[in-house]
Amino acid sequence: MAGIYIHIPFCKKACFYCDFHFSVSFKSKLDILQAINTELVRRRSFIGDEQVETIYFGGGTPSVLLGSELDQIMTSINRLYSVAENAEITFECNPDDLTLEYLKVLKKAGINRLSLGIQSFNDEHLEWMNRSHTNDQSLQCIQDASGLGFKDINIDLIYGIPQLSEDEWKDTIELALALPVNHLSAYSLTMEENTPYNKLVKQQKYQKPDDDLASVHFEVMVNAVEKAGWEHYEVSNFCKAGNYSKHNTAYWQNKKYLGIGPSAHSFDGVNRSWNVSSNVQYLEKIESNLEPYKTELLTNEDRLNETLLTGIRTKWGVDLVELRSEYKYNLMELFPVMIAEWQLKEWVVIEEENFRLSSQGLLFADYIASELFSVSD
Ligand code: SF4
Repeated sequence: MAGIYIHIPFCKKACFYCDFHFSVSFKSKLDILQAINTELVRRRSFIGDEQVETIYFGGGTPSVLLGSELDQIMTSINRLYSVAENAEITFECNPDDLTLEYLKVLKKAGINRLSLGIQSFNDEHLEWMNRSHTNDQSLQCIQDASGLGFKDINIDLIYGIPQLSEDEWKDTIELALALPVNHLSAYSLTMEENTPYNKLVKQQKYQKPDDDLASVHFEVMVNAVEKAGWEHYEVSNFCKAGNYSKHNTAYWQNKKYLGIGPSAHSFDGVNRSWNVSSNVQYLEKIESNLEPYKTELLTNEDRLNETLLTGIRTKWGVDLVELRSEYKYNLMELFPVMIAEWQLKEWVVIEEENFRLSSQGLLFADYIASELFSVSD
């Protein structure tokens, strides 16, 4: 099984917190799409005859594509790759792009899963983040998508916004769970280097994210989602019974994926590669028939640490037998005291050679994984 990720590096506006690769200038859009098609041709051997079970359009904002542009990419993928009949095909969209007409275009193109950048149901907060849509547009597009028969719909939300009260966040989650969607991804607001948010905080125009408030929001969210009978299956991801994102789950299970477009990453089980995060340089490389990516061969230790980090962040945890046999790594013997402490705090559950975090423990997943990392002398 393999996946394909397509990065569409354009956005109408720059959300102030965002450090993904995108451009608000659409001047090179046609050239980039041409280059993406060329890269799809050139990297065909990466996947070979393996079945493609997931395709994911991310960005940037894929919903800035015209129907004809999306059709062209889908036609290339279907012509060049062996796409499974029931492949999950996800398309990230912003609500202001999702008119009824555009939703019909997506359906016709074969998109069967939508991931909507909702972020907040509060217009003031949306404006504060410099988002391009309004709350009315969010609610309308979800109803329209559901009415058109889209069954797999994810919404993205952001918590830890300094002026978002605990009560309002609780209402936000309850509203999300009442909508016709079956997946929720929620991320804590972070202040990354080289973002407008970072500058605004330095200029004392905006408040920093509040980590304590974010922890409270996380707990509120976990309780509300579990009360509603949804599954908390990865630190930031929740779904109605069994409606996991197949594409993202494959990442966390170290499956093979090919990333196409500026800044896209690929992984073949042992090598990780990443395309240049610049539209101009990506075009230059493709037009000069050069590889647009750099590659790193992962050591055993790298692969072990990735397995720990990604596994611990999911409800499936890590298999202690596999860690011992594949990596000669005996977690229980290496960290008995620390693990006992985490068990006392009810952060960790160990059952039948499986090590996983409880819902509360998932809040500390990155810290726990970093404590367990293998580091060479
Ligand atoms: S729409 Fe998405 S990718 Fe574009 S700036 Fe906003 S958060 Fe970043």
